[in-house]
Amino acid sequence: MSDIIQLLPDHVANQIAAGEVVQRPASVVKELLENAIDAGAESIKLLLKDAGKTLIQVIDDGKGMSATDARMSFERHATSKIQKAEDLFNLCTKGFRGEALASIAAIAHVELKTKEEHQELGTCIKIEGSKVISQDFINSAKGTSLAVKNLFYNIPARRNFLKSDTVETRHIVDEFQRVALAHPNISFLLHHNNNEVYHLRTGNLRQRIVAVFGSKMNEKLVPIKEQTDILTIEGFVAKPEFSKRKRGEQFFFVNDRFIKSSYLNHAVVNAFDSLLEQGTHPSYFLYLTVPANTIDINIHPTKTEIKFDNEKALYAMLRATVKHSLGQYNVAPVLDFNRDSELDTPYHYNKNTNSGTTPKITVDPDFNPFKEAKQKEISFPYRREQNTQSWESLYTSVAIADGQKQEELFESEKEIKTQKTFQIQRKYVMSLIKSGVVLINQSLAHQRVLYEEFLESITVKEANSQQLLFPVKISFSSQEIEMIYTIKSELENAGFSFDVFTKESVTIKGIPVSVTESKITIILEELLNDINLEVPDKSFSHFDVMAKSFAKTLSIKTGTQLSEKEQESLVNNLFSCKDPNISPFGKPTFKTFTLSEIDNLFNL
Ligand code: ADP
Ligand code: MG
Repeated sequence: MSDIIQLLPDHVANQIAAGEVVQRPASVVKELLENAIDAGAESIKLLLKDAGKTLIQVIDDGKGMSATDARMSFERHATSKIQKAEDLFNLCTKGFRGEALASIAAIAHVELKTKEEHQELGTCIKIEGSKVISQDFINSAKGTSLAVKNLFYNIPARRNFLKSDTVETRHIVDEFQRVALAHPNISFLLHHNNNEVYHLRTGNLRQRIVAVFGSKMNEKLVPIKEQTDILTIEGFVAKPEFSKRKRGEQFFFVNDRFIKSSYLNHAVVNAFDSLLEQGTHPSYFLYLTVPANTIDINIHPTKTEIKFDNEKALYAMLRATVKHSLGQYNVAPVLDFNRDSELDTPYHYNKNTNSGTTPKITVDPDFNPFKEAKQKEISFPYRREQNTQSWESLYTSVAIADGQKQEELFESEKEIKTQKTFQIQRKYVMSLIKSGVVLINQSLAHQRVLYEEFLESITVKEANSQQLLFPVKISFSSQEIEMIYTIKSELENAGFSFDVFTKESVTIKGIPVSVTESKITIILEELLNDINLEVPDKSFSHFDVMAKSFAKTLSIKTGTQLSEKEQESLVNNLFSCKDPNISPFGKPTFKTFTLSEIDNLFNL
């Protein structure tokens, strides 16, 4: 038999490698930003069009490349950063694999412009799908500009697999933030579709964190500092009362590189100990510096996971340091879970008046951040058209069935017979039906009701909006503002109306009728969280995410007492739903127990 094995041509090998390195526009952003940093840039610009799908361009003022290096940089395994295998264990650059540019050039239209400081002319190279189209001398400023256009143009499957612009932008912003947070001494600019999203000036760590996450962040930060032979820890944790219901702002940097580590995260969470409300996550920005030869970065293609030589010691030290700082900065005494429920909301209006009083510890074991302060805020907004013949028929006969069976037994308890619903442990609503009883989980049921209502009003675009007497200004980070702006029209469909957008705030003048003013911030925050977290399939729509998110945030929760009228209203609204059986998140909303099932329990 003849030989059949052959070496793949470079452009094929590159395309295969690209599959690993470049999953989405955000991967390109990460690689290009890292290259700019490795080149010693002091100022880096990132320009995007259409969530990076059309254009990703990174412009730096770093050391640039010679004409030969410019050409070489697109070869696979071409790097200036390591020379021998041992170098892998003493890395001080972000990159070292020498495959990013080769991979990117295999799957996009790339234009590189670069010039070294002392050279008169720079170089411009155009490459499409690994093929060099042109190479010219040009006039340009010192540094490098790399423009990546039409990513995945030659891999339609990949291109089609990309998510909505909002989701892809979110991934890019995540990468951008991670790099920017790791390098406060470099200035960064981010433009998306010609709008400025970030302009981060050089400063110290705290200034950088505040610049990225908005000015409200400043007061939340507790500094952390510790230095030993094997580890330096610097950075901040957010005070426990600002912990979030979703993991969001959790950042570890090791030797200026963002990494993920559930092990180290555990150390931090552990240090917060009982200061955290159940189900909340602390925010932190922790910068660890360890000797380069005690970590292995080469264990993951995107270099976000690393292996530490002395993981256990780091864990102990990190935990002790965070604990110490929390204690030292007297964080514990300001804990007051009885404040208002919007613990972590960034707005000033309607602020509590207790700012001048002595802080006290009042940990309420029953504290539930979702619980409504006032019963009257529970809303079952509007009854829907009843399309419930079958369910109604179950109910209309209840009285008769009751009457026949119970006539003699419960003569003296006539009022029970007229009450059709009962609440059990502030969690379930039991309702009598012809064939037995139905047990409804109040929270899940209400989610279903709200979900369908929102979905309808958002898609039908007939929002029931209420105008606020005094427009409310809410602060967000600039990236959150950008996101709100992107989904503005959907939010308007849902019943919001907006006034002024600034880079760090939005003024809201109208809200959906089923939303109370005190909830505006929380439902928007939750929505942004949910959009970030959502792993959409192709059919994904903002409408659905939005309706789910609102339903989840606004639904009545376990622990809420419902009046008889509210119980009935809930039951009616649930069974008027198109899909009463399951919650928007797929859980059953109710169970029925027929008389014979109940009989069975008694061996009857
Ligand atoms: P790596 O970063 O792993 O070395 P890349 O493919 O990202 O691999 O880059 C290849 C080489 O191109 C780098 O080693 C570097 O010498 C050069 N290079 C890439 N981007 C820049 C830049 N922005 N400025 C200067 N040199 C760069
Ligand atoms: Mg690189």
